[in-house]
Amino acid sequence: MNELDSELVRGHLAALGYRFVPHAEGADVVLYNTCSVREQAEQKVWSRLGIMGKRKQAGAAGTAESGWSSGFVLGVIGCMAEREGPTMMRRFPQVDLMCGPGELDKLPMLIDNACRTRALDSLERAEARAASIALQGNNHRRSSTLAAASDNLEMLDLSRAFDPDRAEHAGRSAYVRITRGCNKFCTYCVVPFTRGAEVHRPPQAIIDECRRLADAGVIEITLLGQTVNHYHYVHGAAVGADGMELPQVGGRANGQRSAVSAQRSTSFADLLRRIHDEVPTIERLRFVTSYPRDFGDDVLAVMRDSPRICRYLHVPAQSGSNRILRMMNRGYSVQEYLDFIERARAFLPDVCIAGDFIVGFPTETDDDFAQTCELLERVRLKNSFIFKYSPRPGTTAIERFEDDVPDDVKRRRNNALLALQGRISAEVHREWEGREVDVFVERISRTSGSSDRRTSRAPHGVELRWERKGTARSMRASHASAEVQEVQLSGRTSGDLIVVFSSTDQNPEGLVGRIVRARVVGSAPLILRGEVIHK
Ligand code: SF4
Repeated sequence: MNELDSELVRGHLAALGYRFVPHAEGADVVLYNTCSVREQAEQKVWSRLGIMGKRKQAGAAGTAESGWSSGFVLGVIGCMAEREGPTMMRRFPQVDLMCGPGELDKLPMLIDNACRTRALDSLERAEARAASIALQGNNHRRSSTLAAASDNLEMLDLSRAFDPDRAEHAGRSAYVRITRGCNKFCTYCVVPFTRGAEVHRPPQAIIDECRRLADAGVIEITLLGQTVNHYHYVHGAAVGADGMELPQVGGRANGQRSAVSAQRSTSFADLLRRIHDEVPTIERLRFVTSYPRDFGDDVLAVMRDSPRICRYLHVPAQSGSNRILRMMNRGYSVQEYLDFIERARAFLPDVCIAGDFIVGFPTETDDDFAQTCELLERVRLKNSFIFKYSPRPGTTAIERFEDDVPDDVKRRRNNALLALQGRISAEVHREWEGREVDVFVERISRTSGSSDRRTSRAPHGVELRWERKGTARSMRASHASAEVQEVQLSGRTSGDLIVVFSSTDQNPEGLVGRIVRARVVGSAPLILRGEVIHK
């Protein structure tokens, strides 16, 4: 979500004439787009703000290092700005502007204001600084009417300036937001407070955006939402003066609709089908993140019947203990999570599923943790994002529950769950050996000249070793003395499995952003090794 926000902000500012520089040195405006979900990410921002404060002091004293602008504008945008509020600017006077994720359309005005403020004397400056803050604050739970009337953020999505030269994967892959905010209020999560209530974009606006991206050469689109399967748009409920439909607050409880409401509304399943059918040049359509509850069979049926919708689901489980799930306010039981996974696999036998888990949530016992391990054993996810619980300011959990699981216990459980997931991932990947897959090539991951290495860097910086099925031989053994000029590329299957393959192609860059057919000839816990069959 933050990546898309950055892209939209960048496009908006570029359209207004701002130029971008590769490093902060020399910039007149430095912006940090921030995330509040993890403590570590926030620590990095605090540290950078400290460094930038020193640079500003040096600028004011006329001792700025060469390359640094003497009085640049420093801004914090995103969730940290929203969560910290104006106190951040009091604690860090070097910060000139703050803009929450729901107010990004106001950023150019804030930058302009901050630039003018630099020329004022100190008293005027203190007053003007108050005008350099745009946060949703208490307005973030607005009525649907108010939300519709004042949702200028939609303009940011609509005015998107997609720059294929700057985009990743040769400009052939893009994100499209379909909902913003979240109504779930999981007790450990700050998102409902920083991004506000769930707001759904009009389906036609989403489809038009997908079409424009396709016209610009994009072949893979990822639809984004905190709880993407909650997407639901009631037609005629929010219409602007020009007759165009506006974003609206809302969501539906389950996949059941009456015939009348089905005519008047667009569900997530309807939206997927429309994008798939109406923008046929999109070869891959995927979506994240799904919520385990409220995921109707209608969505699974559309996925099954639409070959260009990816066989991939990211469905966080968070815990295998019903007691902990209740404390997290997740709104489903372990059995309901299991039932969903079973339904998904019944509709889509080749679906790959990833999940999230939090270990060390307050009061979590060894028994609760054992139930989490048991759940993971049963659902056999292709991979999981596993986090140690850390109390986040602004959440319900920090106020209600004592963070009483010692850090060494959290670490032990974290490592144990990672090891378990590692074993399961290796088994899941091994099952793909010998099969043919379509790979969307994302990048050149390594260029080698004279190569006698069997290890290489995976896209996530993990050291990998290959093993061929049925042999204990490693790839190093087979290539130990080979003198091969080859390039290693990596990409993803429809099920989001990472595939790495070698190419001696004259123009390997030309493969990036294309879909190639490959045979899986080996595997490791995190990746598949492929051989290209045809391009
Ligand atoms: S569903 Fe829960 S964890 Fe996800 S964004 Fe909403 S509140 Fe946060």
